[in-house]
Amino acid sequence: MDLSYILNELGEDRELYFNAVSPPIVQTSNFACKSVAKMREMLKNEPEVYFYTRGNNPTVTILEKKLAALEGAEHAIAFGSGIAAVSAAVLSQVKAGDHVVCIKKPYSWTNALMQKFLPRFGVEVTMVDGTDANNYKQALKPNTTLLYLESPNSMTFELQDIAAVVNIAKAHNCSTIIDNSFATPLFQNPLALGVDLVVHSCTKYIGGHSDAMGGVICGKRETINRIFEGEFMTLGAILSPHDAWLLLRGLRTLPVRMERIAATTQKVVAYLHQHPKVEQVYYPFLETNPQYELAKQQMRNNTGQFTILLRTNEIEKVDLFCDSLKHFLMAASWGGHESLIYPMAAAYNSANYKSSLPFNLIRFYIGLEDADYLIKDLEQALAKV
Ligand SMILES: *Cc1c(COP(=O)(O)O)cnc(C)c1O
Repeated sequence: MDLSYILNELGEDRELYFNAVSPPIVQTSNFACKSVAKMREMLKNEPEVYFYTRGNNPTVTILEKKLAALEGAEHAIAFGSGIAAVSAAVLSQVKAGDHVVCIKKPYSWTNALMQKFLPRFGVEVTMVDGTDANNYKQALKPNTTLLYLESPNSMTFELQDIAAVVNIAKAHNCSTIIDNSFATPLFQNPLALGVDLVVHSCTKYIGGHSDAMGGVICGKRETINRIFEGEFMTLGAILSPHDAWLLLRGLRTLPVRMERIAATTQKVVAYLHQHPKVEQVYYPFLETNPQYELAKQQMRNNTGQFTILLRTNEIEKVDLFCDSLKHFLMAASWGGHESLIYPMAAAYNSANYKSSLPFNLIRFYIGLEDADYLIKDLEQALAKV
């Protein structure tokens, strides 16, 4: 399917709404039936009809159709946040007594789900270094039902060899889920590599403007329908029609934004990589990265995240560098128009520093600004430390 068709036409039935180019925000909780017979038919056909917005809503459906097509999936289901999608996907694949193998250092709340939440319900989890797919294999137990991936993963952007992990899962009759938020559906399509379910935080690149939150699960129709009947309807973490509309608006420009972000990030990374005050850059598409070949093989392009280690033993220097940046906002999240930093130093105080990550680690996200504008800012801030 053409990308342009997906973004501009797929799922849009403009004749139904006055030929409006931009779809309506169908702001309703319920949909009325004309007769008992109609209602009977509706109840029988859910999830294919509009009956109640906690189940389905027309504005949300347009977004779901486009996201499914972008991932090459039969079907997709949208959620009110990325972590709601992650949690529903994971819960749909486990029951008490099962065992999960999960990538080490996933997104922080995925980590909480795996390490704190699942064990409460009798699901055991092993976290593995995913840079070697064999670590997944070695962690398998007779009761393993799910292998969970996030590639690239949070903060340090290590990759998992997706096809290799899928092979291990298939041989053991396990399912696989991947969080594909960092790569976007434009630059990596794990379903084509045999993964069962792909999740995204739509809050990030898909929305792209730091003004809405959402998540999605993409997969086979049968699996998605099972999640609809189960985790989706019972946990109720739905996407509002208004936020679906904002995400749709963001989605229309995803390809131009990603192209721009990829090019700018390449320049900014090249600048930082050669800078004497930068000890290390974590970025899959750096030629010196041991996973560079794998990155080129399973991703179509780089995206806007990378992490640096500032060359210093003093946390004050990290503070000074970060505070001196004028054009990078200091914030959580990423994927919007604005460049961001997230310094690990902010989580550091000698009393309760729990992270395994060093305090001189700074995560960057590159937005839509000019490369030179950002590099000049980095230059003046690095000169101060
Ligand atoms: C932000 C993020 C999430 C969670 O998404 P929310 O929309 O904030 O709930 C999940 N996975 C990754 C990789 C993320 O960066």
